[in-house]
Order: sequence, then structure tokens, then C-alpha cells
Amino acid sequence: MAIQHILWVFDLAGQNTDYKTRTESKKRLDLLFLSNCNNGIESARSEWVGSATIIAPHEFDAVVFLIPNVGQSLINKVGVDVSVVKADITALGYTATGMPGGGVSEVYWDRCLNSQEVASSIFHEAAHLKSENGKMHDKPRMRVLSVKGATYDYPSWEDLEFYEAAIKRRITLRTKVPSQIIP
Ligand SMILES: [Zn+2]
Repeated sequence: MAIQHILWVFDLAGQNTDYKTRTESKKRLDLLFLSNCNNGIESARSEWVGSATIIAPHEFDAVVFLIPNVGQSLINKVGVDVSVVKADITALGYTATGMPGGGVSEVYWDRCLNSQEVASSIFHEAAHLKSENGKMHDKPRMRVLSVKGATYDYPSWEDLEFYEAAIKRRITLRTKVPSQIIP
């Protein structure tokens, strides 16, 4: 079976800066991370969509929400406590899984210093979402998927292998921006 992967990024971020733009973040995400996931994967790339978009993801895809700041957390909007992330300003993103309607991965635009950190954080949170593994940080030789992942510029082979395996897992994916607590 030819496995194709699209990492959907809902763009709810703040304004571009000199060092942080959507264009550069997408380029780095595609070139440094996704295009290197080719072991058993026919293609992998990101698709950036606006906040009002309703997507039709395929079974091997992933979805990440790029949001302005943790104060506008979508994970919190679906009823999951994010106080631990609010208190830790070194957390550039967060993922919660196991909720009705699917897990939510979010990246905080304001906490990312530059486009590289945006790309790394999106890759990192998508890995949590697809693997449903909160302990991936501790695996040997993890770089971008380690707990301080955004401090690395490039992934390790182990990061890519972990993500490739995660792509092949089928999970429930969000199709739009969650706007309220799902009963
Ligand atoms: Zn993590």
C-alpha cells in the first residue's frame, strides 16, 4: 500500500516577524523533516490552511493547530487543563489525546523564536498526536522529538524513524478548529 502523509497545519498564528514567517516555517517543515520520511512512505508534506477551513484528511494524515498563544489554547477549549503548559514558558506546543472527536496538537506562535522553532515544534507535536505516545522524549538518540526538541536544528534518524512509524497508525483526526467543549 502506498502511504501518503499530509500534515495539515491550521494557521491561526500571529503576525510574521523578521525571523519567523509562515513561508519559511513551511519550507523547513517540508524540507528538513517531512521529505526525509521516506522509509515505506511514498510522500509526506505539509498543507497549511486557514482557520475557517474544513479539511478531509486521509487515514495516515496528521493535524496541528498553530495558534497565537497558550491563552487561546484549543486543548483547553475542548475541556483539557493546560495549566502545566501555561506555567512552563519553554513549552512551545502541547498535545492531548484520547478525547471524543480526536486528540488536539497545538503550537504557540508567540513562544517560537524563529521559523526553525515553528517547524520543529509542529513536527514534534504531530509525532505525539500520531503515536499517542507521551513518552517518546526518552527514547535513545531523539533530538527534535526529545523534551527540548526545539533547541535542535535538525532531526536525528531516530526522530525520522519514529515519525515514519507513527504515520502508519490510524487515529481519529480533527477536520476543523475545535470551538467548544464537546459533550
Ligand atoms: Zn513532547
